[in-house]
Amino acid sequence: MQLQENAPLAPLTTFRLGGPARYFVEANSAAEVQQAVAFAESKSLPLFVLGGGSNLVVSDSGWPGLVLKVAISGIERRSAEQDGKVVFDVGAGESWDRFVSHAVMAHGAGVECLSGIPGSVGGTPVQNVGAYGQEVSETIASVEVFDRKDGQVRELCREACGFSYRSSIFNTSERGRFIILRVTYALTPGGEAYLEYADLKRHFEGRETRPNLAETREAVRYIRARKGMLIVPGDPDCQSAGSFFKNPVLSESQHEDLDKRAAAKGFTVPSYPALEKNRKISAAWLIEKSGFARGYGFGHVGISSKHALAIVNRGGATAAEVLALKDQIQHRVEEIWAVRLEPEPVMVGF
Ligand SMILES: Cc1cc2nc3c(=O)[nH]c(=O)nc-3n(C[C@H](O)[C@H](O)[C@H](O)COP(=O)(O)OP(=O)(O)OC[C@H]3O[C@@H](n4cnc5c(N)ncnc54)[C@H](O)[C@@H]3O)c2cc1C
Repeated sequence: MQLQENAPLAPLTTFRLGGPARYFVEANSAAEVQQAVAFAESKSLPLFVLGGGSNLVVSDSGWPGLVLKVAISGIERRSAEQDGKVVFDVGAGESWDRFVSHAVMAHGAGVECLSGIPGSVGGTPVQNVGAYGQEVSETIASVEVFDRKDGQVRELCREACGFSYRSSIFNTSERGRFIILRVTYALTPGGEAYLEYADLKRHFEGRETRPNLAETREAVRYIRARKGMLIVPGDPDCQSAGSFFKNPVLSESQHEDLDKRAAAKGFTVPSYPALEKNRKISAAWLIEKSGFARGYGFGHVGISSKHALAIVNRGGATAAEVLALKDQIQHRVEEIWAVRLEPEPVMVGF
C-alpha cells in the first residue's frame, strides 16, 4: 500500500478545487481495499471513498482522514449469455465511458445514452447515474462490495441496491457502509438504441434508417459537448461537477402552484415525456427563470455558458465560493417559485 500524506485532491476532481487529504491511498484489488480500511480503523481516521472525482465538492480544508481511491480495473465479458443478456463484470476503477465504448462495440444495448458521463464504473450505482432516458439501474445485474460492517466481500443483487432517481442505498440508507469493487451489467445483445429523449430525436430528425448503438453514442457525446457536459480539455465550461442540482420531483399540488406562478409571469413550465414520467420539472428552467442566465459570473465561479444547471470553476475558485453561489441560486429559486433545489454533488469534508 503506497500511502501519501497531505495529498492534493483538487487535481483528482473535475471541479479542480478543494484542499488536500490527510492520507491518500490507491487500491487496485479487494485485498488492498481491505488493508486501507484496516489502516483507517487502526488510526480512527474518517474514510472517504473516491472514484473519478466527477460528482464532488471538496471543502477548502480538504479531508481530515484517509481518502481511498478505488482503482480496480478490468472489463470482462462472460463467455455465455444469461437470460438472453450479454454480461460484463467491470472493475470499479474503470472509466465509465471506456466501458460504454466497449459495450457499444460489442453490440450490447442499454448504456449507449450514458455515453460521455465522466467518472468511474464504481461511481455509477451510487447515484444511479442517468441521462437521455436511461439509468444504470436498468442494466446493473449486481454489485460486488466490501462491507465495512463485517469486513466481508459480498454480492448485492439489483433489488438490494434500492435504486430510484439519483439515489440508491449507497447514497442514502447505507451511505458509507459499502465500498464498491465491481459492477455486473446485463446488456441486450444486438439490441436497438434507446431514442426517446427529445434532444436525440431532434438530432436524428429526417433520417430514414434507425441509428445504431455507435451512432447513438456519438450523437450523445456531441450533444453533451455542446452543453459543456463532456469533459473536453481546455473547455472552461466543463470544470464542474456536471449538473449541480437535481430536477425537483413535485407533488400534484406543488405542480399546480408552480403552473400558477409561471402563468402569472406569462410563462409555461416546460414539460417533456422524460420529465413527466416521474413528475419531474427542469431545474435548469427554474434557475434561468430566476435571473441566472448562462454565463452568469460570481467572482471565480459562475454558471456554465452552455447549461444553466452547471456551476463552473472559472479558474482559482474555492469551495466556499461554489457554496455561496449555490446558496444564492437556492434562495432565489425558492423565493420566486416556492421550490427547493437539492444539490446533486457529494460534499466532502464540510
Ligand atoms: C461534465 C459532467 C457531466 C455529468 N453528467 C452526468 C449525467 O449526465 N448523469 C449523471 O447521473 N451524472 C453526471 N455527472 C456526475 C458524475 O459524473 C456521476 O455521478 C459519476 O457517476 C460519479 O462517479 P465518480 O467515479 O466520479 O464518483 P466520485 O465523484 O469520485 O464520487 C461520488 C460519490 O460516489 C462514491 N463512490 C465513488 N466510487 C465509489 C466506490 N467504488 N465505492 C463506494 N462509493 C464510491 C463517493 O464516495 C461519493 O460519495 C456529470 C459530471 C460532470 C463533471
